[in-house]
Order: sequence, then structure tokens, then C-alpha cells
Amino acid sequence: MRLVVDLNKCQGYAQCAFLAPDVFSMHGEEALVYNPRAEEEQREKLARAVAACPVQAITADGLHGAGAGSDEAARESSDAH
Ligand code: SF4
Repeated sequence: MRLVVDLNKCQGYAQCAFLAPDVFSMHGEEALVYNPRAEEEQREKLARAVAACPVQAITADGLHGAGAGSDEAARESSDAH
């Protein structure tokens, strides 16, 4: 799966690194590093990270086929706000 983070939007909140640590990590206080070709197994975590990003900086291909997992992630993240 391919993903892109708009680093102009990204504020370094690290929600994504917390939810999908195999895809996203923080280097220092604000620099986000990510794998633009995430493994298929990361789909569910990635969906959570996309939903949780406070500034919607993450765009990922093919997340909408994720089924129940992504609905659940969306619900969980709206509860968290
Ligand atoms: S959650 Fe969004 S704003 Fe925070 S580090 Fe990840 S991409 Fe950036």
C-alpha cells in the first residue's frame, strides 16, 4: 500500500507514530519519518493513524477496502476526541 504524508500539514503530533509505529516514527521533536510503501498487514493500523491525525495529513491508497476494521478505527478515534 502506498501512502503520503503532507509534511506541510503535519504538526508532529505523533498520533500516527503511536498508532502505527512500524510505519511512522518521530525523529527528534517534530520530524516525521515514514515508510511510503507500508506492508499490507499494516492496513488496519494505518487506517487508525489516518483517522487519528489531527490535521488529516496522511493519505493512503486503498484504505477504503479495509472493511470493518476501518469503521471501527473511525469510531474509536472519534470517541477519543
Ligand atoms: S498524526 Fe498527523 S500531524 Fe501527527 S505526526 Fe502523524 S502525520 Fe503528522
